Amino acid sequence: MTTATRMSTAESIALVEEYGAHNYHPLPVVATSAVGAWITDPEGNRYLDCLAAYSAVNFGHGHPALIRAAREQLDRVTLTSRAFHNDRLGPFLAALARLAKKDMVLPMNTGAEAVESGLKIARAWGYRVKGVPDGRAKIVVADGNFHGRTTTIVSFSSDPEARDGFGPFTPGFVSVPYGDAAAMEAALDDDTVAVLLEPIQGEAGIVVPPPGYLTEVRRMTAERNILFIADEIQSGLGRTGATFQCDHEGVIPDLYLLGKALGGGIVPVSAVVGDRDVIGVLRPGEHGSTFGGNPLAAAVGLAVVELLETGEYQARARELGDHLRTRLLALVGNGVTAVRGVGLWAGVDIDPSLGTGREVCERLMARGVLAKDTHGSTIRFAPPIVVEKADLDLAVDRLAEVLAELRTS
Ligand code: PLP
Repeated sequence: MTTATRMSTAESIALVEEYGAHNYHPLPVVATSAVGAWITDPEGNRYLDCLAAYSAVNFGHGHPALIRAAREQLDRVTLTSRAFHNDRLGPFLAALARLAKKDMVLPMNTGAEAVESGLKIARAWGYRVKGVPDGRAKIVVADGNFHGRTTTIVSFSSDPEARDGFGPFTPGFVSVPYGDAAAMEAALDDDTVAVLLEPIQGEAGIVVPPPGYLTEVRRMTAERNILFIADEIQSGLGRTGATFQCDHEGVIPDLYLLGKALGGGIVPVSAVVGDRDVIGVLRPGEHGSTFGGNPLAAAVGLAVVELLETGEYQARARELGDHLRTRLLALVGNGVTAVRGVGLWAGVDIDPSLGTGREVCERLMARGVLAKDTHGSTIRFAPPIVVEKADLDLAVDRLAEVLAELRTS
């Protein structure tokens, strides 16, 4: 045992508080091990994980096939940089392109890098293929978006917390109300190279656009020779009961941005996936990443694609999601004001007169359930897809107990 694993919860948190940048406000729980949907703390307490690392752990903690792929690769070669080839990258790229029914993949590491890469590709495509005059490329986004934390990405955020103190910002973005196809259409012009959207806005509180919205956006972008970039970093790869949330409307964007679950909860793996006539605009030396496409990431990413190719996880997310939603909807009027979501992904609005989302999450934690609040009074439930139905019942029962407690306190 290492010193670190012998520390208590309080000691671990104190060390992070002292030496770590204070850019997060985590729940006071410390993980020392985790299997499937369950996390264990240093004192041996077990918690049901209803966040799954913001969907990066879609396949559960320690999935045997993913751990095996990582272990085998650890003993072979882990990093070469893209200055050389490695024998895992090709199979991973081919498998991911096949899964997305596209023909080219740009491998990166984090979600924000995939977004940045998608924006750069769209601008280069706009100048070199569409013929937009130099320096004029415009990208349309939606209010309430969350695409990451880099300077360019926060430039088009509508969240003051993400932006204040971090300007000057990158120009070239216009934001319109999410879910409003007419507002989107009015914002498009000859200089528009791309529309960038989350098919469901995750961090905004699992905001699902009206039916037909994605179809409309696809139509108007196709008609005007504008790229449709779908940020499926959180909504994609099984979470919503389909490989991509866009699949639910039969929409195929020009570029998928993928991340989180692509790394199997083991290593950061992200990608831009699209067609050759778009991603092919990148020339050697114009864009890259030392770790992007490394052999360990590629081996894990390939194993993730193989899991998704079975369709089992998408089906399980649909089935369990229906159950979770039915149970949560029964709480509406009893401390819950609304429930939103698709597949195994639910946003639950708590009656603000009872307490904040954070207070509810702290009380859930005391009862062995880990969930995360967002925007004041919304709690999201996004457990690993391997979670058992009985575990979902336990989570909803505990939520009902917390709400009853708050009503009487
Ligand atoms: N895009 C979406 C839709 C996300 O939800 C996130 C993270 O939550 C990101 C991009 C950024 O990903 P990362 O934190 O890996 O940079």
